Amino acid sequence: SILHHSTFFTTVNHIKDLPKTAHPEIAFAGRSNAGKSSAINVLCNQKRLAFSSNTPGRTQHINYFTVGRRGETFGYLVDLPGYGYAKTPMDVKNHWNELLGIYMQERDQLKGMVLMCDIRRGFTDLDVEMINWFSPLAKPIHVLLTKCDKLSRNQAKQMLFAVEKQLKMMTGDWGTVQLFSSTERIGLEEATEVIAAWIEK
Ligand code: GDP
Repeated sequence: SILHHSTFFTTVNHIKDLPKTAHPEIAFAGRSNAGKSSAINVLCNQKRLAFSSNTPGRTQHINYFTVGRRGETFGYLVDLPGYGYAKTPMDVKNHWNELLGIYMQERDQLKGMVLMCDIRRGFTDLDVEMINWFSPLAKPIHVLLTKCDKLSRNQAKQMLFAVEKQLKMMTGDWGTVQLFSSTERIGLEEATEVIAAWIEK
C-alpha cells in the first residue's frame, strides 16, 4: 500500500509552525480513545508511528507523517490531537480550538478528513461539531467506525446504516463511512483506497 512507507515528519504546536509544503494533506481526527492511533499505525503497517495522547493536561500537537517512497513525497497524514477528554484544562482546550480551527479552515493543502468514531458510540456532539465545522469547505469526510469487532456483524451493519444516514444529512455527497477494526484488520483496503485517491488527485 502507498501508506506503508510513511515516516514521521514533524510536530506542530503553533499555526506559525505549519510546514510550508506543497503536497496533499489528509487529516485524521477523532475523540481521544476512538482508536485513531491504532488506525494510523495499522494503515501504515507500523507499530508505533502514531501514539495515543490522551494524558490529561498534556500539550496537544499536530503530528505530520510523510507518505512517500524512496525519498519522494506524495503527501502527508496529519494526526490531529484527540478531542473530548473530559479533564483537559481550559487553556489546553482553547489552544486546541485555535490550532485546529485555523488548520482545518485555512489549510489549502488539506484535501480530506478521516474521522474516527467508536462504533459503539456513533457520533458524539463533538464529532458533529467537527463535521459541521469542516463540511462547508466542500472537502470530503470519510468516517471510520472503529472497533467494529466489538459488535456482532448485524449490529455493526445497523450502526453503519444509521451513521451513513446522519452523515449524508450533514455533508450531502461529501461524506462516506465504513466499518473498521485495527485489531481484526477489517476495512484496511477500503480506507487505504479512499486516502490514496485523495492524495493522488
Ligand atoms: P486514540 O486515543 O484515538 O489514538 O485511540 P487508541 O488507538 O490509542 O485506542 C484506544 C483504545 O482502544 C486502546 O485500548 C486500543 O487498544 C483500543 N482499540 C483501538 N482500536 C481497536 C479495535 O479495532 N478493536 C478493539 N477491540 N480495540 C481497539
